[in-house]
Parts: sequence; C-alpha cells; structure tokens
Amino acid sequence: MLNRRQVLRTGAASAALFAGAPRLRAATYDLIIKGGRVIDPSIGLDAVRDVAIAAGKIAAVEANIQGDAADTLDARGKIVAPGLIDIHTHAGRSKEGPSLLVQDGVTGWVDAGSGGADNFDQIAATARSAPQIGRALVNIARTGVITPQGELHDINQANVALAQGTIARNLDVVVGVKARLSENVAGANDLEALRRAQEAAAPFKLPVMIHIGQSVSPMRAILALLKRGDIVTHLYAPAPNGILDDKGRVFPEVLAARRRGVIFDFGNGSLEHFDWPTVETATRQGFWPDTFSTDWNVTSKTTGVVDFPNVMSKFFMFGMPISQVIACATVNAARVFSAFEDRGTLNIGAQADVAILELREGTFEFVDNYKGTRTGRQRLFPAGTVIAGKVVRRI
Ligand SMILES: [Zn+2]
Repeated sequence: MLNRRQVLRTGAASAALFAGAPRLRAATYDLIIKGGRVIDPSIGLDAVRDVAIAAGKIAAVEANIQGDAADTLDARGKIVAPGLIDIHTHAGRSKEGPSLLVQDGVTGWVDAGSGGADNFDQIAATARSAPQIGRALVNIARTGVITPQGELHDINQANVALAQGTIARNLDVVVGVKARLSENVAGANDLEALRRAQEAAAPFKLPVMIHIGQSVSPMRAILALLKRGDIVTHLYAPAPNGILDDKGRVFPEVLAARRRGVIFDFGNGSLEHFDWPTVETATRQGFWPDTFSTDWNVTSKTTGVVDFPNVMSKFFMFGMPISQVIACATVNAARVFSAFEDRGTLNIGAQADVAILELREGTFEFVDNYKGTRTGRQRLFPAGTVIAGKVVRRI
C-alpha cells in the first residue's frame, strides 16, 4: 500500500486531492518504461506511450502513466517493442549463448536443429537454464548439425524412431523437427530426409523446419512435402533450387505454399544462405519474409549477422516499413510456435518481455553471405531488455 508521501509525489494524485476529488488510489507497478515510441504491431500501436509492468505481466500501455514503480526506465527517444523472438538460432550449443542474446533484445529463441537424437540432451539443458524462453527443433539426423561434411549424406542417420524418442523425452523443450536439405548436407537424400522428418513430427503434431537452397531436388518437389505451419528457412537462398525460376520470377509453387500456410523465414546465416540480388528480386515481386531470424551462434558478432536488430535493419533498404520489420521479429515469430503464444505482444496481461531499441540514422554497411555489401541509412541497435518484468539489460 502507498503511504501519504508516495501518493503526493505523483502530480495527478496530488492535483486530485487539492481539487477535492475522491482520493485516487494510484496503482503500484514493478516497472514503468517511460516515454518511448511503442511499436507493437500485434495491437496496431505506434505512438509515444508508457508501459507499466506488474507481476511479470504487461499491466498498462498508456500516455503518462501515473503511479509508483519499484523501477523505471527512461526510454525517451527509443523504440519500445515486444521482446524479439529469433526462430532460427544455434543458441543451445553453448551455455553462454542465451545470455549473449539477452544483450541483443532477444527474449525468446529456437535452436534450429543443432542437436539430434544422439546429442539433444545438452541443447535441452541449455534451453531449460536460459534466462529467456528457449526451445529447440530436433534434427532428423541423429548427430544434429555437422559441418562441413553434412549430417544427411548417409540417410541412415535420419532415424525416425530415435527422433521420436527424443521428442517424447523432451516435450517441454521441443517445438518441431529440423532438416537441412542443401546438397552439401544431404546430397541426393533431401526428399527422403524430409519425408522422415514429417514422419517423426506427425504423432506430436509438430511443424518441420527445412533449410533450402542449392539442393539436388527442385523447389517444387520439396514444397510438395510441406504442410500448413511448416517453415522454410533461408528463403532467399540463391540458385540452384531457390524460390526463383531462371527468369527471376518467384515460382508459383512458392506462392501457393505461402497461401496454404507455409511460413517463409529469413535465416541470415553466414555462408550461402542469402545474397542481395535474390532479396531484391523477390521483394520487388512482393515476396517478403514472414519472420526474420539470425541463424545465430556465439561467433555471429564477427559475421554479417552481428545481432538480431542488425539483421532486421537490412529490410529497411528494400522499403519495408518499421512496423512490419518489428512484426517479423515479434508477433509473426510468436505465431509460428505455440510455445510463444503469449509473447511477441505488449497486450495487457501478456508476458512482460520487452526489447528497447535505438533507431539511428547514418551510413551503415550491411553484408550478405557472399561478401556483398549494401549501404543503408537506418540501423536498429539493441538498447535495453526486459524479461518477465525484470530489467536484464539496462538502457
Ligand atoms: Zn541454422
């Protein structure tokens, strides 16, 4: 309860007292994030607002929230967005990964197939002990990702029974199954590996995420094996067998897959996953990502990824408006996996995960996976992070 001095400290409350109005009971909050530009595409909001948090949940999003708070963040001049959700990372590979992501505003992540049946326990342990919500896809290959030789050249590595056992033992962490299908990973086994991934996922009603580009089989044959809710990552992987035909048009089968609910994810990565001409050609035809993701690992600071806000900023150069940029990293990502259903939003009552970002104007160089550079005029930088109402990176 408030004592009299605390009530008088707030202008509105004291004005009300002096005016003889009924005594206001000012609310008490754990945290108020003051005066930022709140961009929350889940509720169509882009305006200067305060965000009040109590008991780990969003309590109010209003102009000039009065009331006491145990902690306050001054977000004037900054963007206040729902916490960022990165659906393709390798954060589960190392204990320090998730804490590093906190610094980038990432309040939810999915490890996309670092581990398979033989080594998933370590990924699951990292996810369970992470400071933010961490989930993982089980690689259909029992070894998980192996580089550079690739995990699916021997199709016997794709063992459905073992993958299902791993899922069943880790239902609190597993949100889907992963299959990397490029020629250097799977050779001619791409379609069979995908069939096995679907078979492993089916009894659990889980989505499958595939990694496309430079596959042996054509895009249309791969897409034919995807169901509603499955995810295509590295959507702008260049030919052969990307999303564009040899005249640069988005394949009708790709458009049809999107219409029937297949998700197309960016998946920045560092090698052979996207180039600027493919991004430009596809986005000119209106083929934008549903979600962004980094394909992050602990070395990403020194690759073209840098951090999630850097990856998001690449799309300003192609004309994506900021509300859509934020949507791809928040609400759209939250809708891909049901584990994130109360995330990616600042709606009242939602989990209070918040990313505070700074939008700087200037000259910024962005890199694709082939050392191609493009210069942009705007770049989002991570500035602060709140997880379940607690400030974990202070502005
Ligand atoms: Zn990856």
